[in-house]
Amino acid sequence: MKFSETFIPTLREEPAHAEVISHILLLRAGFIRQLGSGLFTWLPLGLRVLKKIEQVIREELIRYGCQEMLMPFVQPSELWKQSQRWETMGMELLRLQDRHENDYCLSPTHEEVVTDLFRDNFMSYRQLPCNLFHFSTKFRDEIRPRFGVLRSREFIMKDGYSFHMDDKSLDVTYQEMYDAYSAILTRFDVNFRVVEADPGVIGDGESLEFHVIAGSGEDTLAYSKHSNYAANIESAEALPLGKRATPKTPLQKVPTPNVRTIEDLTKFLNLPIERTVKTLIVHGQESLVALILRGDHELNLVKAAKIKEVSQPVTFASEEVISAELGCSVGSLGPIQLKIPFYVDRSAAMVSDFSFGANEEGKHFIGANWDRDVECENVVDLRMVGEGDPAVDGSGPLAIQRGIEVGHIFKLGTKYTRSMEATVLDREGNSIYPTMGCYGIGVTRMAAAVVEQCHSEEGIDWPIEIAPMQVHLVGLFAKSNSKVKDTVDRLYHALCDAGIEVLYDDREERPGVKFADADLIGIPHRIVVGERSLNQNTVEYRFRQAEIENIPLDEIVMKILNFLNKK
Ligand code: ATP
Ligand code: MG
Repeated sequence: MKFSETFIPTLREEPAHAEVISHILLLRAGFIRQLGSGLFTWLPLGLRVLKKIEQVIREELIRYGCQEMLMPFVQPSELWKQSQRWETMGMELLRLQDRHENDYCLSPTHEEVVTDLFRDNFMSYRQLPCNLFHFSTKFRDEIRPRFGVLRSREFIMKDGYSFHMDDKSLDVTYQEMYDAYSAILTRFDVNFRVVEADPGVIGDGESLEFHVIAGSGEDTLAYSKHSNYAANIESAEALPLGKRATPKTPLQKVPTPNVRTIEDLTKFLNLPIERTVKTLIVHGQESLVALILRGDHELNLVKAAKIKEVSQPVTFASEEVISAELGCSVGSLGPIQLKIPFYVDRSAAMVSDFSFGANEEGKHFIGANWDRDVECENVVDLRMVGEGDPAVDGSGPLAIQRGIEVGHIFKLGTKYTRSMEATVLDREGNSIYPTMGCYGIGVTRMAAAVVEQCHSEEGIDWPIEIAPMQVHLVGLFAKSNSKVKDTVDRLYHALCDAGIEVLYDDREERPGVKFADADLIGIPHRIVVGERSLNQNTVEYRFRQAEIENIPLDEIVMKILNFLNKK
């Protein structure tokens, strides 16, 4: 492919409104252009990356007997009504009508369509298990499309769905998909982690997320440094910290003028923050509900949402509601004589001789102890885990890192087969609801996630398997030097004839421009043909971020071929 004949609109300047490095570099290197909010065009080099990503995914899935097909992007509302997601999907589901006023939606995912296909065409246990996948455009009307193609509204996903007679069969496929996803990410040559996830609205069973580690990631992951344990911070279980000591001090109510926050309290009383608790008030089904955490701990809303008495979604009571119903301001709350039910976090339940608000303006209790002064009945896991907390598997301290979710595997169970009445006959002739798994990888998000991890100051640094081309060939001053021109032309044809993908920079640009573009685009093998090296019968060769080497002209094609064959 000749640079002069390819649409590669590189940019020297940093584009405005691009917040993360992948967005900046994919725009600057001429891989994408933005059409509107969350809508992107993939230019020739960008599309080559997407196709490579798809091919790796396809190869790894086919190994496990998955079958590729293609389902529609526009989907009838009836199916979504049957699964009840027409109502529950909310605003992310973009609904539309055709000329006959029939309701449709743009597909955010394909559980309904695949289950419909299944119920019409699968009748017997003999046809199972079955694992179908496709690459398709998805549309999710994200509330805040951002970070370029990392969170867009229209994007490409590989989604796969498996159907099984029983959980044992689903377990086998789920493990295979785990292995396939791990193999895919290993081939992409990125640092990744698999974490336990909260299944959200898609299913109600077990699920694992695959994250590419990157500082710009929207998710926070907690993982053990000494075992495989890893979880999205939202679903990472927090163990109780410490053991409750026997009470040493009497309970006392003390005046605390102008104390409004936990920080004010610790300063005023000269008390370590670990010996305070804070009382957060949320709306509940019947009344307000109080959630009590150690002063230095943060509430995890996903955990709070699991308390039956708490209203969904979890919402904090306003200052006005709190003072009207509880008779004091937010900064003076505490569990003694509290008029509403309260839940105590596991670690808050371990403190002794501690302090909190007296439910009276400007007063706090000190020297309080659970059971002696205040009951401690509803102890639950409420807090967000932090760096250094013990991992739940007992393997040691947790570390915290940010990640980009690129893949997700779920055990869906019979949620869709039941709601959509998809049955098959088992061996005995009984009608049963098959159990399902679903497996997604974001193709467009993957491209950006890889860039987040693989880049230098100058540009992208593509891993070999998904680079848009294998070799970037540059001729220096070829127009004025016929020896260079002949050599670089011949080398281009030799590389192409050997089946190697080459981007040949044949433009009449200055070397600085060509090098800057090569740095931006980030093709892993770079060959530079210039007068100085040709005089020694060599070319300059560089692999990714390694040092430049001088390689004899007649060995360079072989060197690249050997490299490509080895992988
Ligand atoms: P997120 O929590 O980031 O919104 P999700 O949990 O909603 O993702 P899934 O429904 O599991 O995502 O979709 C499977 C995959 O599709 C994700 O792992 C991700 O790679 C991709 N994906 C989801 N939403 C987007 C988006 N808005 N833009 C690009 N890719 C996306
Ligand atoms: Mg989402």
